[in-house]
Amino acid sequence: MSRTAFVTGVSGQDGGYLAEQLLGQGVQVHGLFRWPEQLTTFRTRFPDVQPHLGDLTNPTRMAALVAEIGPDEIYNLAGISSVAQSWADPVGTGRVSGLAAAGILHAAYQHKEATGQDVRVVQASSAEIFGNPVNSPQDESTPLAPITPYGAAKAYAHTMAGTFRSRELFAVSVVLYNHESPRRPPQFVTRKITQGAALIARGEQDELRLGNLDARRDWGWAPDYVDAMIRAARHDVAGDYVIATGRSHSVRDFVAAAFTRAGIDDWEKYVVVDPAFVRPVDAVELVGDSGKARRELGWTPTVDFDELVGRMVDADLR
Ligand code: NAP
Repeated sequence: MSRTAFVTGVSGQDGGYLAEQLLGQGVQVHGLFRWPEQLTTFRTRFPDVQPHLGDLTNPTRMAALVAEIGPDEIYNLAGISSVAQSWADPVGTGRVSGLAAAGILHAAYQHKEATGQDVRVVQASSAEIFGNPVNSPQDESTPLAPITPYGAAKAYAHTMAGTFRSRELFAVSVVLYNHESPRRPPQFVTRKITQGAALIARGEQDELRLGNLDARRDWGWAPDYVDAMIRAARHDVAGDYVIATGRSHSVRDFVAAAFTRAGIDDWEKYVVVDPAFVRPVDAVELVGDSGKARRELGWTPTVDFDELVGRMVDADLR
């Protein structure tokens, strides 16, 4: 019998890839959208996804939706996903990216209790829960020590997944390291770089203003990370999984690779370091050890750093 999935955050980068992968497997996909005026766009973009209006921060609405849909799998991807935005709105970030996850987990638990259905919840967590970790690479045993409102909200949601797991709900937290694609919005540094490199190569922009070029991140290909979520939902046992490539690169490396792909060798001429874009607090390096996901889920990243940057630049040049 066909499986049914409920995806929050379906209009985001990962939500779109996830819906496509699930539909490709014959899964019936239900997606959450926030504003009534988004319905037409939603139907055009996802003709095969059943749309449901609701705000993740409304636990009553989430419980009603879970009861109505009866999902086998819930993927909680909705949230404020930008660290910068979380500093601008720490309370809102706490509500959506933290507290609201408890609402989804509670709704799943209640539905399981009422119907006996084996509801499985995948919570999209983040490497930012580790803050500025002393050990590198980080794995599932690394202590949580967030240093941003985004990381703190995600740490709460991550902890709640474990809390409900101890109450025998199948709840997974996938600790996602940065993952990118041409669908990443331009307010994120990677897309800002690839878009900037493409515009400069085409003579449509003169310079690219960036913050800290020395920050190091572990960047992967978004569709791979969505594949990990599905594998975790279908695994025999629920657990936490670090999802990462295990290789870190600096923002400077990203810039150099993007400009080279766009046909520009002397990128330094075009890049201006602007203190306005330096984060008030920032992890120096985040790199993940995804050994557990590789062993238990058979997951592996399929796109390396140069290819990832290349795909984003090519899409922006087009
Ligand atoms: P994204 O593109 O920013 O998408 C976020 C989604 O959440 C959007 O669909 C947005 O809907 C929805 N949303 C926000 N507030 C909501 C609310 N109150 N009620 C219902 N929906 C709401 O994020 P992403 O890059 O796909 O990431 C997916 C998840 O993975 C996020 O939770 C993110 O924090 C986490 N994560 C991502 C990365 C990464 O590198 N991409 C790394 C670690 C963790 P609208 O379209 O209406 O705004």
